[in-house]
Amino acid sequence: MIEGNEIHRKLTCHCGAVELELTLPKGLEKLRRCNCSICSRRNAVVASVDLENLRIVKGHNDLKEYTFNTHEAKHFFCSRCGIYTHHQRRSVPTEYGFNIACLEGVKIEDYINVPYFDGKNNHPKDIQ
Ligand SMILES: [Zn+2]
Repeated sequence: MIEGNEIHRKLTCHCGAVELELTLPKGLEKLRRCNCSICSRRNAVVASVDLENLRIVKGHNDLKEYTFNTHEAKHFFCSRCGIYTHHQRRSVPTEYGFNIACLEGVKIEDYINVPYFDGKNNHPKDIQ
């Protein structure tokens, strides 16, 4: 688990080409998995950060963007090692979701009970 008083966190891909700095004043917020078509395939546990609280320290040219369907969500991954780092949410476009397994100091095995968000059948942008 993350210590509560450390608000600047480093997030890296596997090869280290991409490094992000996150400002997380309240720690890991909105922890979840998701069962939508892309999230179920990558099966990452994600948390949320406001757009202005994510800074690309290095790897601008190595980050690749992937979009599909409505092209609202923007999914980013390292084009060298293939690791998903973060995405701009479709549900809340003022936020990024990020891969907590890429966050320095996280033991992913501590997050085994993070629940699934039903993005497949009950995505807030798909409900009238
Ligand atoms: Zn990489």
